[in-house]
Amino acid sequence: MSWRRAGPVATTVGGSGADGQATAGGASSPAMVDGFGRRIEYLRISVTDKCNLRCVYCMPEEGLPWLRRDDILTYEEIAEIVGVMARMGLRRLRLTGGEPLVRKDLTRLVALLSAVPGIEDIALSTNAVLLARQAHALRDAGVSRVNISLDSLRPERADAIARRPGTLAKVLEGLDAAYAVGFEPIKINVVLMRGQNDDEVPAFAELSRDRPLHVRFIEVMPTESNLELSASNFLSCEEALEAVRAVDELAPVAGPPGNGPATYYAFPGALGTIGVITPMSHNFCSRCNRMRLTADGHLRPCLFGEMQTPLRDALRRGDDLVPLVAETLRIKPEKHLLVQGSAIGSGGLVALSQTGG
Ligand code: SAM
Ligand code: SF4
Repeated sequence: MSWRRAGPVATTVGGSGADGQATAGGASSPAMVDGFGRRIEYLRISVTDKCNLRCVYCMPEEGLPWLRRDDILTYEEIAEIVGVMARMGLRRLRLTGGEPLVRKDLTRLVALLSAVPGIEDIALSTNAVLLARQAHALRDAGVSRVNISLDSLRPERADAIARRPGTLAKVLEGLDAAYAVGFEPIKINVVLMRGQNDDEVPAFAELSRDRPLHVRFIEVMPTESNLELSASNFLSCEEALEAVRAVDELAPVAGPPGNGPATYYAFPGALGTIGVITPMSHNFCSRCNRMRLTADGHLRPCLFGEMQTPLRDALRRGDDLVPLVAETLRIKPEKHLLVQGSAIGSGGLVALSQTGG
């Protein structure tokens, strides 16, 4: 398949809203502003804690104690919570996990969420192993763009990092399908690991030259299950950018639309961009715009830390959720307190798959 779309997507910094994100239409409600004045219009929804891969930096090889089926929010319950938050000013959603595509009939959830008044954008984070078969239906139901995780372009390595055979071939099939059905933008998330994929940084960057792909390098964050790896294999985005600059000139650009904390660059004339996400070396919490909903219905104001508000049982009792959402916004911390190679600040989080990353 040809990957060429018309015209470069990389534009010079300053073309869009703060942190390079598209400014969402529609009025924002003062109700969705936290105690530090940050507007929170974006919710990451973890639809399952389960996954078909076992990425070395994310999930222990033996898996985790999975949530019980009854503890997981139904699609109707997720849509109800989103409805309450949309009336308070929520505008944009991302479905994540675990691996969202392992949950049955995800398209049905997308259709329910697309129908919620006020919701303007639905995105998906996936390992893409199961994407080829579902891409079309997901796009038709309302997913507009995807982030795909891929940590190596070499088959044996990709399989070793994901701890599952045949991973790379399936991810590339999913990536092709994402392009074919017209998801835009398509972002590739690469978790940097010294000694595991650092020598592939230039090859990943090259993907952005003649394809409209946005390759984002992410610094590995410590959780209780990856302490050794996140300490001894840590590679900063600054080092990754140095490796890319050794290949060709890089200019700062606004980057593709999105809700994330990435800073973007591009090769001259490239169709795509290269982004860096630096939770460890440069804290970007002052620009945080999000909350998270776990698969079992906890609303989390921050990826890390112990703060979370249980919504599921209140919802099942028929309680008003507005005060609970408002309180979660009020307690949203100013920043995360992660320390490289330490469980301090992770709030007991074993794996990012538990909160949706
Ligand atoms: N399964 C989907 C996927 O892999 O895209 C969605 C869930 S995954 C938890 C979301 C993102 O978190 C992925 O891009 C993954 O690479 C990233 N991630 C997981 N654990 C991480 C860690 N310890 N440090 C940095 N990024 C991590
Ligand atoms: Fe699964 Fe995504 Fe975690 Fe990899 S990063 S184990 S694909 S949830």
